[in-house]
Amino acid sequence: MTRPSQAIIDLGALRHNYLLARRLQDGPTLAVLKANAYGHGSVQCAHALADVADGFAVAFLGEALTLREAGIRQPIVLLEGVFHADELALVQQHQLWTVVHHEAQVRMIEQLNDVHGLRVWLKVDSGMHRVGFRPEQVADAYKRLLCTGKVIDITFMTHFARADEPNSDATEKQLAVFESAIEGLAGGRSICNSAGILEWPEARQGWGRAGIVLYGADPTPYEHALQPVMSLQSEIFAVRTLLPGEALGYGGTFVAEEPVRVGLVAVGYADGYPRRAPNGTPVSIDGQKSQLIGRVSMDMLTVDLTHLPDAGIGSKVELWGKQVDVNAVANAAGTISYELMCNVKRVPLVYQSE
Ligand SMILES: *Cc1c(COP(=O)(O)O)cnc(C)c1O
Repeated sequence: MTRPSQAIIDLGALRHNYLLARRLQDGPTLAVLKANAYGHGSVQCAHALADVADGFAVAFLGEALTLREAGIRQPIVLLEGVFHADELALVQQHQLWTVVHHEAQVRMIEQLNDVHGLRVWLKVDSGMHRVGFRPEQVADAYKRLLCTGKVIDITFMTHFARADEPNSDATEKQLAVFESAIEGLAGGRSICNSAGILEWPEARQGWGRAGIVLYGADPTPYEHALQPVMSLQSEIFAVRTLLPGEALGYGGTFVAEEPVRVGLVAVGYADGYPRRAPNGTPVSIDGQKSQLIGRVSMDMLTVDLTHLPDAGIGSKVELWGKQVDVNAVANAAGTISYELMCNVKRVPLVYQSE
């Protein structure tokens, strides 16, 4: 018997979520597959979406080449653009669409010979203040790009810092800044990330960029009928009973007050389960609610079976997925679903189509 731990990836749920996002966006929508599709396997996810997705997005060239080598023919946007002028030849050869968010990237296109037919997404900093041209620099960057004769199409994009906060006015402000920055300039648009698609109808213009929504982890406080895609699963491989006063695991962070039945689960922080998850973090055992007790180790963690007399060796454990909301685990561990899913490693990814 091999180690009974795996991440089940439900490709039917992925398609459901993509189609839900696309219906809301009511326009072309990129499926964001950066970081190995948030830990779900970018090639498998791209193939599963290939007949419905208008295009894909990744962070950088290497991620896009992985998809092209796997036979993906749809448009692919490089969300960070290129880091060096050398990359533009491959961008052209593989017909990738590249973000330009910084003056140095304009210069690379200006100075490089033998490149033509580029499709550029020009990034406007509408208030996140991370990457993108300041509003007053946008028209100049736009003109410089068109003047090169190497750019055949420009789409204006911006990115929201706080679209997951329904009560913040930051998103409306960003939208207004974006509108005024591109006023009078011809080109397509792309504004919404997942939270924008889900909760900011006035921002659903042009291309949507659906990331976390694809994977079924809702970034907003509301309910949107998303289906979780990844289920991180394992089994109980040993059971023991703690006597009152005994402390469990590294640091002795859980101390039994009465006899406690402990289940050992074959997943640890080396698999991507967050070490910071405290006592009380939810888990599911044979479909029943339980919780973490004691500190997460590298290769295993410990759960409370005291109230589950039928659970024992071989019982199925879900760390997150259909029964345990990944957001609940992320909240308990002081992080976000994105980080948990991106960090999954060592366990095999097992794909299911229905
Ligand atoms: C990652 C990313 C997205 C997707 O964000 P989600 O919150 O996962 O939907 C959209 N746009 C840009 C520019 C990104 O980098």
